[in-house]
Amino acid sequence: MTTCAFEIPAHTRGVRFTFVSDHVALDFAATVAWRTTRHTELLAEPEDFARWATAAEVVDRLEAVSQGDLVAARTLREAIYRLALAAAAGEPGDPQDAAVIRRAAAHTPVRPALQALGEVERRGGVNEVLATVAASASDLLGGPGRLLIRHCTGEPCTRLFLDRSRAGTRRWCSKRSCGSRINAAAYRRRVRQDGQTTK
Ligand SMILES: [Zn+2]
Repeated sequence: MTTCAFEIPAHTRGVRFTFVSDHVALDFAATVAWRTTRHTELLAEPEDFARWATAAEVVDRLEAVSQGDLVAARTLREAIYRLALAAAAGEPGDPQDAAVIRRAAAHTPVRPALQALGEVERRGGVNEVLATVAASASDLLGGPGRLLIRHCTGEPCTRLFLDRSRAGTRRWCSKRSCGSRINAAAYRRRVRQDGQTTK
């Protein structure tokens, strides 16, 4: 069995994870980037899951992640993604996916231990981390929050996010990345069209 001991901060190695979905379960689902366009697996190795869990601040550090743990993490992630997608489409979703999330949430989650003002310790292993994410996903998908799940319209993003805007009309996972990129592309297109019409 492959294991890894991981203590390196998230931003120093490999891919950088982004947390712009406004919900940890949707950020977890987004560890397959550009799902419907350039489908890219960001949790390629066990240590990638350890990096994600610490970057997401679910746990302070995660050691000895096995290949089997990675499979379990991906299984939970895909169940979350499919149900979130179903929620966004107003469909009922597969009960088997709900069962996967329920089973993962049955473990003890990571319990934050307050050390001092501004200082909290989060300890746990893979099961605790998955339970924390699964519990969070349960709250989202089992409650009214599921009605706020949207698909980013940014190409090639396709990320799921929570639209907490008052009007409920948010189109991009992140204004700074997808939103500004789209606006820049639209601007360039406009400039090009203006150039063509003045010829
Ligand atoms: Zn996006």
